[in-house]
Amino acid sequence: MLEKNFIQENLSTVQENIAAACAKCHRNPDEITLISVSKTKPVSMLQEAYDLGVREFGENKVQELCEKYEVLPDDIHWHLIGHLQRNKVKYVVDKAALIHSVDSIKLAEEIQKEATKKQITASVLLQVNVAKEASKSGFYEEELANAVEKIKSLDRIRIQGLMTIAPFVEDPEENRQFFSRLKQLSVDIKQKNIDNVTMNILSMGMTGDYQVAIEEGATHIRVGTGIFGSRNYKGNQ
Ligand SMILES: *Cc1c(COP(=O)(O)O)cnc(C)c1O
Repeated sequence: MLEKNFIQENLSTVQENIAAACAKCHRNPDEITLISVSKTKPVSMLQEAYDLGVREFGENKVQELCEKYEVLPDDIHWHLIGHLQRNKVKYVVDKAALIHSVDSIKLAEEIQKEATKKQITASVLLQVNVAKEASKSGFYEEELANAVEKIKSLDRIRIQGLMTIAPFVEDPEENRQFFSRLKQLSVDIKQKNIDNVTMNILSMGMTGDYQVAIEEGATHIRVGTGIFGSRNYKGNQ
């Protein structure tokens, strides 16, 4: 019998957990997009995941995303999930299928400018710092309505939803409040029926807490360690 490899085992476990979380809250697992967060991992590991059927990859650095984009197949959807500096927008705007991390109006304006040059429409999420952690970027919820109001008029940007990075906690239940809050914020915006703004995507939940995030309405979960194993550097990235 063939032995299943590490990534394959991990993917199966994550998929089983997604199914279990969905069963618990009566959702269809097809509603959940699993993004394999491959930051710091070598191309060979991404290729392995690709060969197992993975098409959604998440990276947090522009340069790394671009390098991997160049050498891996073009039917991959690349998700930019890390903080985006304005001077790097031009490199990534036509490579990322979805930018999860729009955290300022100025950044949105730069995306508008570069998307116009390349004659594309950029799909983005607004990042919300629901837990108001000083170390994290993202709009505070009080700033969100104004941000949507400003960004909606940028015709090269489609706001497709919201994203949050919840605090690092031991017990994922501690983050339930933040996930449910993000869901509520998206419902509030959706109710306004704004042109150019859909709220179909809720990007929340990582290795430690994606099941809770699914129970609270996540459509996109971002799982790194749970698929590729632990990363080889210090810090919270
Ligand atoms: C690294 C990262 C993840 C994945 O984190 P894991 O805990 O390894 O699953 C998800 N989202 C963002 C924004 C990240 O930077």
